[in-house]
Amino acid sequence: MDFEKLAELLFPEIDKTPDYYEELYPERGLPEGARVTRFAPSPTGYLHIGGLFSGLISKLTADVSGGNFYLRIEDTDKKREVEDGVSGIVKGLCDFGIDITEGVTGFETEAGNYGPYTQSKRAAIYQCFAKDLVKKGLAYPCFCTADEVQAIRDKQEAEGVLPGYYGEYAVCRSLSFDEIKANIDAGKPYVVRLKSQGSPDGKITFDDMIKGKIEMPQNIVDVVILKTDGIPTYHFAHCIDDHLMRTTHVVRGDEWISSVPTHIELFKACGFKVPKYAHIAPIMKLDDGNKRKLSKRKDPEAAVEFYSEQGFPKESVLEYLYTLANSNFEDWRRANKDATLSEFPFNLKKMSVSGALFDLMKFNDISKNVICVKDADWVLERTLSWAEQYDKEFFELFSADKAKAREILNIDRENPKPRKDLAKWSDVPEYVAYFYDEIYTPDFDVLPENINRADAVAVLRAYKDAFNIADDKDTWFGRMKDLCEPLGFTPNVKEYKANPDAYKGHIGDVSTIIRVALTSRTNTPDLYYIIKILGEAEVMKRIDSAISAWEK
Ligand code: GLU
Repeated sequence: MDFEKLAELLFPEIDKTPDYYEELYPERGLPEGARVTRFAPSPTGYLHIGGLFSGLISKLTADVSGGNFYLRIEDTDKKREVEDGVSGIVKGLCDFGIDITEGVTGFETEAGNYGPYTQSKRAAIYQCFAKDLVKKGLAYPCFCTADEVQAIRDKQEAEGVLPGYYGEYAVCRSLSFDEIKANIDAGKPYVVRLKSQGSPDGKITFDDMIKGKIEMPQNIVDVVILKTDGIPTYHFAHCIDDHLMRTTHVVRGDEWISSVPTHIELFKACGFKVPKYAHIAPIMKLDDGNKRKLSKRKDPEAAVEFYSEQGFPKESVLEYLYTLANSNFEDWRRANKDATLSEFPFNLKKMSVSGALFDLMKFNDISKNVICVKDADWVLERTLSWAEQYDKEFFELFSADKAKAREILNIDRENPKPRKDLAKWSDVPEYVAYFYDEIYTPDFDVLPENINRADAVAVLRAYKDAFNIADDKDTWFGRMKDLCEPLGFTPNVKEYKANPDAYKGHIGDVSTIIRVALTSRTNTPDLYYIIKILGEAEVMKRIDSAISAWEK
């Protein structure tokens, strides 16, 4: 067979040779050890938390080595594509701290010298390399229809052998030039297949950066590299793109491990250096005691929109993804409380081999830790931008008096041990509700059972008489203590505990009475500041309502 002639017959319009592209996309000239990685999603318009995780791992792999990270869009499978499925992905990455400086940067936009970074725009490149494989006798056209391929599979199943288009079953391997030409002249559609050189007893081994050394049988299947429309399969596009974009480390989901033998054969057939692989296990979840993959269908937290809608700060999401990424991260964080995430020495080798467990409760706690150390302006700004998008009514209310909103968010915030009330911005409306008559519904029934309502009324009346809005914190607290004894309470908790029958309650109960009257809650941040923000008129009004409720 004259392979040159066959290549011309199949690809008459391809006039470039691989050398042209090798020169167009030269080695990146990075320092020794610098890694080039990518995130390569399909444009489904949906970013799974697992996608964000693998994008992050990929970026960190590059960042810690002083290398490059880029975003490539893999749109060769038109069935999975949605209209402008790109913007959502880029926004999702960017919202959670993964800025794209190379590759696809938005709908129809890109940056960098190794583009186009969208596979559907690279057809001529793939065809050039496919043509070269045909020239070398390492690829051939296959005219089998889907039914014929299925019939081969059925036969293999009956014979109990490995299914697939290979060896003696690969009927189009042995077509002559004239037969091929006649098929083409007759307008028969065809795919281009790799002519596998693998042997059934051969093995390949590779060192996965996460999973360790892996040995697998060689590929022997003549996989499709170009589909009937000239568009490559994932396998071929991966090989060409990662070579020409000079990727050094392919970081991707571990569902691709089974394809590595095919990929290694393709890299070798094209004469390319095989990149290093790092296969990430999927994020798992405990469901009724069983570990399973986080699922787009069952788990709302699988979509990154969930985090935006709920108003989790990107800092919390990132902090949590780091804990999933490297098991030593939490110890590092304890020892480096104020360090930025970029100071963490991320290591691919410390990733979980079997899949890190996603725990929403733990994530909430981490988010509370992240938020509690931020200042009120930081919290206010983010709460408002969340509310503007997801809770318009609250936005109107909360932004109407920003100084008040800031004061509310600042209560107890500057303490050495700040309270951990907020995990996400959607917690804020409920958290601040009692400061706003518009959304506050009093519920005086929350008064604890151990407090007698008549005693509570007496405390409120005495408190009203003693009240002075101008009091500083110590004077205010002093007044509360002074209320105790005449009403049968004690300012001294220890004393109460030693002799509970001698008192109606202690200072804590007195504050609870006032707290419930003013906020309908038994647990709030510092009552003194709440009173300052509510102001005298509102405090008096609420105390009067509580008195009438408890007097009934
Ligand atoms: N486009 C592939 C996917 O969405 C990416 C695999 C890879 O990263 O190589 O699964």
